[in-house]
Amino acid sequence: MTMEISNTTKINNMNTEIPFNKPCVLPDSEKFLIKALHSGKLSGNGEFTKKCQTFFEEKYHFPKVLLTTSGTDALEMAALLIGIKEGDEVIVPSYTFVSSALAFTRQGAKIVFADSENNTPNIDVSQIERLITPKTKAIVPVHYAGVSVDMDKLIEIAKRHGIYVIEDAAQAIDSYYKGRPVGSLGDLACFSFHDTKNITAGEGGMLVVNNPDFIRRSEIIWEKGTNRSEFFRGEVNKYGWVDTGSSFLPSELNAAMLYSQLIHLQEIQSRRIEIWNKYYDGLKSLASEGKFNLPFIPEYATNNAHMFYLVCNTAEDRNNLISYLKKNNIHAVFHYLSLHKSKYAEIHNQNNQVLPNSDLYTDRLVRLPMYYSMSDSEVEQVIDTIKNYYK
Ligand SMILES: *Cc1c(COP(=O)(O)O)cnc(C)c1O
Repeated sequence: MTMEISNTTKINNMNTEIPFNKPCVLPDSEKFLIKALHSGKLSGNGEFTKKCQTFFEEKYHFPKVLLTTSGTDALEMAALLIGIKEGDEVIVPSYTFVSSALAFTRQGAKIVFADSENNTPNIDVSQIERLITPKTKAIVPVHYAGVSVDMDKLIEIAKRHGIYVIEDAAQAIDSYYKGRPVGSLGDLACFSFHDTKNITAGEGGMLVVNNPDFIRRSEIIWEKGTNRSEFFRGEVNKYGWVDTGSSFLPSELNAAMLYSQLIHLQEIQSRRIEIWNKYYDGLKSLASEGKFNLPFIPEYATNNAHMFYLVCNTAEDRNNLISYLKKNNIHAVFHYLSLHKSKYAEIHNQNNQVLPNSDLYTDRLVRLPMYYSMSDSEVEQVIDTIKNYYK
């Protein structure tokens, strides 16, 4: 009897397990996946691929959109399009995902790592100019947490030096900079639909081509170096191998999955923003007591609620907070490790910079659980547990 009571008490007090992420799967996902399965075409560039591309072109007025199998692939296409070769230099923030740099090193570029701002993890635009040399071919602004980099300043610097701008907008779907959609600002922009992003294809991404010089060639690189797209539009009477490229097209199954979320994009975004605001309101008193810093959204940027993070006062506090949350069934995670301190940078002699802000976010940033299907009580559970930790 006593056993039973104590077990019941335990169950009643037990918090539910809160993962860091749950991929966005909607009732329509099943419907569209089944439709794709029976469509007679599973390979790329079918009806769902076209529907997704048209959606983005119409909603954000992107001149040209190509779905890809990942955000990494979109970045690799960008590196091919701007003709990155041995000896070129590319400026990339150190505090980012590996792919922002990898896509360019793969073509032989040397990465020149840039530091983050002190109030956001985004690239510090005021420090870019001194990193430019005659070999600099491109700058890769990463819109961290979907919050836009200060693009007017960055583009002005790039224009003055004749350098391409490749936006890593992997986290930045439905985000705006001074009223203009993120992804429409650089020569090229790369998005990701990995299952940790606001909308997902499972694995997927897209390349946005803003610079008209790259539109024709982007289709060729996408279609394994052939002019097949022109053939399908009836512009040429046969197609063949004309250039470099790869198989960058996702399957119709991935596109169907993505499309099931595009038609609900506003609902997904509103709910994520609600969750984000709930976190912000619930945690601001602790922030004003100086326990940690909350995300900062500059006045030129909107918040697409891709991520909710805290910046703790020390690495030790950040790690203790993660352990405490874990003990309470909440999975919070740290994020990037400064790329300029990676094994790769060491081997390639690119580890000699001092980038204090990048290291600060490496040591002290923690991301809280955040997903479309997260309930209000789950958000409250995370907030309460953080409050208990700081008691
Ligand atoms: C997710 C992400 C990528 C890579 O996208 P994949 O689709 O996983 O290849 C690149 N850069 C940033 C900043 C990301 O967040």
